[in-house]
Amino acid sequence: MFCCGGFSTSQKEYTVDSLKYFPRVRTSRIMFEDFSSLRIRNSLVKETGLSSEVADKIALDIADRINTLDLDFLSGPLIREFVCVALLENNFEKERAQYTRLGLPLFDVDKLIHAGDKENANLQHNPETIHKLAADTIFDQYALLNCLPAHLADAHIAGAIHIHDLEYFATRPFCQEHDLRFFLKKGLIVDGQGVHTAVAGPAKHPEVAILHAAKALAAAQTNWAGGQGYDFFNVWLAPFVRGMSYARMKQLAQMFIYEMSQMYVARGGQTVFSSIALECAVPKIIWDVPAVLPGGEASRSETYVDYYDEANTFFNAILDVYMAGDYLGKPFNFPKCEVKLRPEYLDAFEDEYLKVAALASKFGTPYFLNLCPDYMPDIVNSQCCRLIFTPDSEELEEFHKGAMRMGSLQVVTINLPRLAYEANGNDKLLYELLDERMDLAREVLMIKRDVVRDRMKGGALPFCSMDCFGDSYLNLDKQVLNVGFVGLNELLKAHLSVELHEDPNAWRFGLKVIKHMVDRVNEYATETGYRFGCIQTPAESCAHRLALVDKRMFGDRAVIQGDAGNGSIYYTNSSHVRPAAGIPLLDRIQIESSFHPLTKGGAILHVWLGENDPTNESVWTLIRRIATQSLAAYFAFTRDMTICRRCNNVEGNLQVKCSRCGAGQEDLEHWSRITGYYQQLRGWNAGKVQEFKDRHRYTI
Ligand SMILES: [Zn+2]
Repeated sequence: MFCCGGFSTSQKEYTVDSLKYFPRVRTSRIMFEDFSSLRIRNSLVKETGLSSEVADKIALDIADRINTLDLDFLSGPLIREFVCVALLENNFEKERAQYTRLGLPLFDVDKLIHAGDKENANLQHNPETIHKLAADTIFDQYALLNCLPAHLADAHIAGAIHIHDLEYFATRPFCQEHDLRFFLKKGLIVDGQGVHTAVAGPAKHPEVAILHAAKALAAAQTNWAGGQGYDFFNVWLAPFVRGMSYARMKQLAQMFIYEMSQMYVARGGQTVFSSIALECAVPKIIWDVPAVLPGGEASRSETYVDYYDEANTFFNAILDVYMAGDYLGKPFNFPKCEVKLRPEYLDAFEDEYLKVAALASKFGTPYFLNLCPDYMPDIVNSQCCRLIFTPDSEELEEFHKGAMRMGSLQVVTINLPRLAYEANGNDKLLYELLDERMDLAREVLMIKRDVVRDRMKGGALPFCSMDCFGDSYLNLDKQVLNVGFVGLNELLKAHLSVELHEDPNAWRFGLKVIKHMVDRVNEYATETGYRFGCIQTPAESCAHRLALVDKRMFGDRAVIQGDAGNGSIYYTNSSHVRPAAGIPLLDRIQIESSFHPLTKGGAILHVWLGENDPTNESVWTLIRRIATQSLAAYFAFTRDMTICRRCNNVEGNLQVKCSRCGAGQEDLEHWSRITGYYQQLRGWNAGKVQEFKDRHRYTI
């Protein structure tokens, strides 16, 4: 321990000559260098702002210590560790945090290389993901240490809130819905600048239009952390497929779907998290919009209603491709296929919807964006895991210009069950705690906004910053700042001793809690002028993490799902009914969908299908019923599947033996929908695997 004031040595610098021996230093500059205390002093002044006098004393102390050790070599990181300890010993805690090195223990890197990670089921274990995961750790640490003040970082670490995609907090916005017409009009600059890549003009041919559509999403994925999608996909491409045979349309649809499910290049060796929203034909609201034609010109005479038939035929072609699956008969998990249910479509396109029902029954592929309830607008984007964007009047103008972009900058989740443990049955305290946590989320979101603004200014988000008809492509002011939540069911159980589905009073109380959240985010919007939204969090990892943290903190008072014995525990997602609850399907739909008008930032209702093979008619009847008799904004049917690695057989449900070749468990892959996409169970975290086992499946 040394003290700044009482430092005794009279030497000004330790150099090669003054040390009794001098270990050489392995530096990050790929060469050996001689030890120099001056270098330590200079770096301390530069990185922490300490005075040269104090920095000098610390540097000389470190030199003293090193001098007493019998070392052959030193490394830069080791010297830094010495300095960090000295900083702490002298109460320079803030400076220690500024001076620290971010990184991983050797043991952890070794583990990453050999075993990978299960945080994100979409990640395969491959060289790119190993790099991504190592980098993720550094950027997680960077966000907590350098972007967020200590009280927010601590709130995340302690599990009061959960900041999603922390690894991208410092560098990227979350997700984006693109307007394909922008790329059809302007062509494609994948790096946003045209400096590092070739620049393409507007597509003249259908194949090129398809490739531009695919590559634009892949390029965007380099600037965004989450999902990338297109709305009106088949409508905007309708002018490009005019006069084409059905077989050729299918070929084009196949090209796009294969591109999106095979370009294994995004975010550290995975497919682009992509989605396309489809219309049965051309909805009335865009009948008068001028059509963007091959070559990029907007037609003076033709509007999209003139391409009604092409949009419809292309819709059918796309469905056929999804229905066939890939070469082995496996379903395509990307791009996610979102089918809109409009009141005027339900009777007019029954044949198409029967086909969609068949696809739902076979693979569970389609997601339904339900525009039938009165509260849903005509134009609404949905994408990523469940995010929903409703345009304002300016965005509708953008829409008519052919460049409507909508997205979310960040999601922060509130750990709802924690509130109940801390409130001890006191309603007033529960709401006070909720407000306090939401204010923390708001602070995080405001910081994220500044971070993205700064990255754009600094040129670190070139795709987001590229020109879009005079504006930057990412319109920062229009991006949604989302507050999400997890475990409403467990909050109710802890606070009222009944679960969401067990008592109408619990249900009402649950609605009140979420309504309170919505009112509060609306206040944030009014106060700041920014766009805040309340969302049902897609809690792929945080439903597990927050349950683990709470179990440790609150012991038996924690209301958790799953098996506490082996740690495979989780909280029920958002305002869902507990997955295992064996209540009638229509009751589940009624309860869960009642929250959708509140969570306008995003919601999903899952229907887990049982063992039988429901007929297309029965699935369509249920779809129609959900569309017209519930408040569900967004829903999907999940079909569990078994894929045999020995003979490539694909069959429904979870099989223990391949029905074609007799292969056993070791050769079988089980697939299901994790939160908002399909993936094999092998990559799921322990909490999600348990939730999968618990799911109450329905026979329809
Ligand atoms: Zn087999």
